Amino acid sequence: MMLINSTLFMEKYSDLVFFRGRVALYSVLSALDINEGDQVAIQAFTCIAVPEAIFACGATPLYVDTSPQSVNMDSDDLEKKITANTKAIVVQHTFGIPAELDKIISIAKKHNIPIIEDCCHTLSSTYHGQIVGSFGIASFYSFEWGKPLVAGMGGILKVNNSDLQEKLEDNYNNFQYPRFTTELKLNLQYLAYQFLLRPSWYWQLRSFYHLLSRFGTIKGSYNPTGYDVQGIAEDFSLRMPTSTQKRLTDKLKSNHQNKQDLSWIVEQYKARITSSSVQQISVPSNASVVYSRYPLICVNKQKVLETAKQINIEIADWYTTPVHPLAKEKWHLVNYKADSCPNAEKMALSIISLPINSKVTQKDIDKIIKVIDYH
Ligand SMILES: *Cc1c(COP(=O)(O)O)cnc(C)c1O
Repeated sequence: MMLINSTLFMEKYSDLVFFRGRVALYSVLSALDINEGDQVAIQAFTCIAVPEAIFACGATPLYVDTSPQSVNMDSDDLEKKITANTKAIVVQHTFGIPAELDKIISIAKKHNIPIIEDCCHTLSSTYHGQIVGSFGIASFYSFEWGKPLVAGMGGILKVNNSDLQEKLEDNYNNFQYPRFTTELKLNLQYLAYQFLLRPSWYWQLRSFYHLLSRFGTIKGSYNPTGYDVQGIAEDFSLRMPTSTQKRLTDKLKSNHQNKQDLSWIVEQYKARITSSSVQQISVPSNASVVYSRYPLICVNKQKVLETAKQINIEIADWYTTPVHPLAKEKWHLVNYKADSCPNAEKMALSIISLPINSKVTQKDIDKIIKVIDYH
């Protein structure tokens, strides 16, 4: 059964709670003494949050391609690109699909490089029956809009090594709580989100959100600072606000008690979409996936999205670029070189993803499937 089951997750829910997922990543990279001159390997087909955390340490990202038909890191490309300066590997489980951990772990061991798992899309997928987030030296999670469990903005870190844990706890004293006004803004944002989110409101909400974040009224998902300004963004010195922490704890508890099973949605996407213009994303054979959204490769991506927007159904377009949301002319800002990860670039042009959450109705699913099959 596929649950957003937080039991295993909660057992090791640490006290290292940060303002955002990227801040949690930043904290662990700093604790590993990663800084100027160092590289951190990450996959292309990611969001800007990841390179932002690396730049905040003074290090640079080393972009590794994804495997064909996959949304996760290609281990052959990793092996090819690793250098003596590569000091950590961030392994992303995109849409909740576990990465090819066996291969990546063996490369990491050979070069003696620690792995940090990016679990922002999953709390509970497993690989060889073992929960993701327990394979690397540490793993980080995000609870902002669009993640499997939304508590407002925030990130947490889980650490699987006691020396590192100790160091992180020491460093944690340097992180401050955000200002009262910031916390208030985030709480209002959360209320609006709770109230408004329905698959049929997706496109309106999305435009409204982009508009508000452009004017600085709310905090957007992306604050491209850290690489183009002197000094790093204030975000990287902050903890998760206490009200968000409380919401997170409550949500994890109720999730655990209700054992909400969303697999009926996934089963329908899998069984009922028959269009020859879509292809399935590959999944490791020994993985059990708890999807955050259901991804598909779609040759008519733009047309499908246009129709979805016209008739108000939620089909998402991300990641739209190798380092979302940066368009090609901005790739240099995050050191991404065009053509360096061709599979990821190609995937960004054809990926779509379908909603999986408690507000999705049978009617939504029928409409989504109709639109995809129509093209
Ligand atoms: C959301 C996300 C993050 C972190 O996001 P924050 O906004 O910093 O909480 C990191 N990696 C991936 C893959 C994500 O989707």
